[in-house]
Parts: sequence; structure tokens; C-alpha cells
Amino acid sequence: MSVEIVFLRCRSASHDDCGVIESQVDVACALARTHWVEHGHGIMMTPTSSRSPAEPIDLLDHAEIDELFSRLRTAFPSKRNDITVKDDLVAFRSLVACLLSAQSLDRNTAKAKAALFALADTPSDILALDETAIAAAIRPAGLYNMKTRNLKRLCAFLIDEHDGSVPRDRAGLMRLPGIGRKCADIMLSFSFGQPVIAVDTHIHRVANRIGLARGRNEAETAKSLEARASHWAGRASHMWLLRFGKAVCRARSPKCSGCLLHDLCRYELKATP
Ligand code: SF4
Repeated sequence: MSVEIVFLRCRSASHDDCGVIESQVDVACALARTHWVEHGHGIMMTPTSSRSPAEPIDLLDHAEIDELFSRLRTAFPSKRNDITVKDDLVAFRSLVACLLSAQSLDRNTAKAKAALFALADTPSDILALDETAIAAAIRPAGLYNMKTRNLKRLCAFLIDEHDGSVPRDRAGLMRLPGIGRKCADIMLSFSFGQPVIAVDTHIHRVANRIGLARGRNEAETAKSLEARASHWAGRASHMWLLRFGKAVCRARSPKCSGCLLHDLCRYELKATP
């Protein structure tokens, strides 16, 4: 199937935390459409340009990358750096939460997750549920019909291929129905304590603006980040970038004035300090 790729810009004035200021999406894709609708508030979708956001970036060198993370470490001291490996049940629940979170706000994912786990929280028990019951439970997370199908397929796959356990490597995770690179990396980092920076919309935005990594989408940015800053990969670095992206380098109106990374940042549209 051929698809049309454009760049969309969220115009909502109330979307400082939306995190999807500019995304490469398939305009015919129901996922993308639903996301924009869910973010509501009368937003408009307008094609902007066909330029990749990654193209103009002059990437940071290794010394600058070290300096960047050193500053973030000082500015955003980690509250929790302990690495814990989750047991199978907890890991499975995290995996399901990740699947449900696609194109969903955190609060809606939490509602869907709670409703589903009130019914069942193991692969075999979820597989035994009626699809209508699953869809009704996870409805708050949106795209509930597709997610119900993926959830059923995921549970069947885990039982058939992994005796009901969640695989603990990226390749195994990415073979699971409904699980992409971002979810796989979140699982590796937060459930299995592996040195990975899971790239979400905030880290994708920040990394490309600053020049830390290059990527037209989260998966490409994740690969670039892994290649360029692997020695910084880890839960703490993930949290530094995430907190910086939410507090300073926001999707709309980044706080460039006074930004602690202003002298390093390669973002061509950054405001003067
Ligand atoms: S200078 Fe602006 S665009 Fe660059 S990292 Fe800081 S807030 Fe983000």
C-alpha cells in the first residue's frame, strides 16, 4: 500500500506538553488521526514541509556529548537509579501497559490498564476473555479494537513461543504482536535493567534539536542514540533527557533563554539566550 507522508504541526495553544509538535506520520493512518483527535482542544492539522527534521543537524561530537550529560546529571539529579529486574507477572503487566499506551495519554492508559487488570492479568487469563469485554475495559486508551486484537495475539504468542514469559532481549520483544522498538526499549530499561535509552516523543525531540542524535522518527533516533551515546545509555540518562524535555526543551515554546545547553544546542530555531 502506498502512503503519503507529510509533516504535521499541532496548533493547539494548550499543547505545551503534547510532545507532538512535529511528527512524520502517514495521514491515512488511523493511529495518527486518532492521536490528533485525542489531543483535541480544537487543534488543526496542517502540512508544514517535506523536510526531514533530522537533515539540518550538525551533530555534537563525543566531548560535547559528555559535557551535555554531565550538565544534565547536575541539573536533574536522579531520584532513583536502582536497577531491579521484574518478575514475569510484573514484566507482563508492564508490557501490556506499553501496548495500551500507544497514542494514549498517560491518564487514559492508567484507566484502561486498571480496568483490564481487574478482569485478568496473565496471558492465559486475558486470552480467555471475550474480546468485547477487553475492548470495553481498554476503551479509555483509544484504538481499543486494534489494541484488543493485538493483546489477544500477544498473549497467544507469549504462551506458544515463550511459555507465557516475556522475552528479555530486543529481538524477542520486537517479534511480539503490537510491540515496537520503543516498547521493547522501555521493557529492557525499566523491567530488565539493561543499559538502554528508550526513545519516546520527548527524547526524540530533544535529541534531534540539540544534535545528540539524528532520526526522522523515534526508532531511527533510538538507533542513532545507541550508536553515538551508548556509554551514557541507562535509566538515569533516560530520565535526565525526559525531565529536560518536559521542563525546558518543551515541544511548544522551548525555554531557550537561560537554557543550560544553549551553547551546545544545534537547533536552528532556538531563541537567543
Ligand atoms: S536552546 Fe532551546 S532548543 Fe536548544 S536545548 Fe535549550 S531549550 Fe531546547
